[in-house]
Amino acid sequence: MAEFVGAVDQGTTSTRFMIFDHDGVEVARHQLEHEQVLPRAGWVEHNPVEIWERTSSVVQTALGKAGLCAGDLAGVGITNQRETTVIWDRRTGRPLHNAIVWQDTRTDRIATALDRDGRGDVIRHRAGLPPATYFAGGKIQWILENVPGVREAAERGDALFGTTDTWLLWNLTGGRDGGLHLTDVTNASRTMLMDLETLDWDEELLGFFGIPRAMLPEIRPSSSAEAYGATRASGPFAGEVPITGILGDQQAATVGQVCFAPGEAKNTYGTGNFMLLNTGTEIVRSQAGLITTPAYQLGDEPCVYALEGSIAVTGSAVQWLRDQLGIIAGAADSEHLAAQVEDNGGVYFVPAFSGLFAPYWRSDARGAIVGLSRYNTNAHVARATLEAICYQSKDVVDAMEQDSGVRLEVLRVDGGVTANELCMQIQADVLGVPVSRPEVAETTALGAAYAAGLAVGFWQDTDELRANWHESRRWEPTWDDAQRAEGHAGWRKAVDRTLGWVD
Ligand code: ADP
Repeated sequence: MAEFVGAVDQGTTSTRFMIFDHDGVEVARHQLEHEQVLPRAGWVEHNPVEIWERTSSVVQTALGKAGLCAGDLAGVGITNQRETTVIWDRRTGRPLHNAIVWQDTRTDRIATALDRDGRGDVIRHRAGLPPATYFAGGKIQWILENVPGVREAAERGDALFGTTDTWLLWNLTGGRDGGLHLTDVTNASRTMLMDLETLDWDEELLGFFGIPRAMLPEIRPSSSAEAYGATRASGPFAGEVPITGILGDQQAATVGQVCFAPGEAKNTYGTGNFMLLNTGTEIVRSQAGLITTPAYQLGDEPCVYALEGSIAVTGSAVQWLRDQLGIIAGAADSEHLAAQVEDNGGVYFVPAFSGLFAPYWRSDARGAIVGLSRYNTNAHVARATLEAICYQSKDVVDAMEQDSGVRLEVLRVDGGVTANELCMQIQADVLGVPVSRPEVAETTALGAAYAAGLAVGFWQDTDELRANWHESRRWEPTWDDAQRAEGHAGWRKAVDRTLGWVD
């Protein structure tokens, strides 16, 4: 019997392959970054061929490091950046355009128009999403309208759409030679095209965007022994491994953090921040600016849903300090620089580079640094950047509490930014509740491995997975209520300054 499970984690900035044992302990990993293509202000693209090549290399290298082969894996799961849109030609296997990334705002006119004639409310109700540039539907429409020949190819059934899970699955299962064109409920739900209740594509929603159904993948459960076929021996696994789990990255982190009971929540700090609250099999519609989304569907069981607070720019604001402002050499330096000052010195930074997502949903917002005086330094800007990560999360936590009526007792966190101790301390201070990080920080890959392993009986049930979760670090709040209220009021004032910046 195979002793390990593998997970491909195709993220916004990098792709990794990780191998886990039965205790959920990492056995090996390899990770490679891919290029962020920024052709114009607001546009963000990835090259799908580069992503497939990086995936192949990380799989081969991680298997090599661990001295394992395909036969040692009971199954493999795929998790991925959601919403990022790939369209390719099934005959040539070549992309018909670069992938349009979730952060890309080129579709702002498409998104705004949806709210002018009532279509927005149909999308809100049926798909659980507010019309926004974030989701895939508008990105597909943009490619159909702007890239010559794609609409005709889509109508013939030759142009295929997929998020990156689908693109990788198609390539891993044979590509031009019989590759499978499938996705899971969590990824499908991020398009504005899926009905949350039927878990299938909706003709009326497809009509809003002029999208031919022939280009869409079939929607399957997130964890299933039969749904996704097996890797081809000619590919990077050099053997046939059953692909038994697919989950969007944030849903995977929810599973990796074992949030299996209604009321359990996690917050992931990566390029952006994403907080998900399990609401069980009930579809809860938000009054406070959150998204309603499937959390996972295990085999034949009913779909479990979540409320989600998505924030576009958190860790990527730290990258901006490094790459565009050049005030730090690496992301970790943001902690040392920010620690040189005791507070933000009156400075607030609202990194609304892609508009503001939850709970505001304002595509007309753009970033601002406010409250500057002659006294301020780079250190205040660094501190304000870390605070921005925490205040944006505070706004989402407030919305979650408003929608669910449940007061958060502890915030479970993960993701790259949680390596920043100061940032996590500020998070506990701003929220007034403890922040808790598990031993396995790679909850996204772990969640995909869990989905894959559950399907093949490698793990029996979710209780067995709960036993694998251990806290490694906890931060307790130190601010008093007055300090917390004052800080948050300053933040809200700064947010107001960013609204309505573009038409
Ligand atoms: P993703 O899966 O979205 O690519 P990760 O979870 O790998 O993201 O986290 C990467 C992000 O975390 C980057 O945006 C980076 O700027 C940020 N980051 C990494 N380490 C630190 C740190 N020590 N302090 C602040 N931000 C960090």
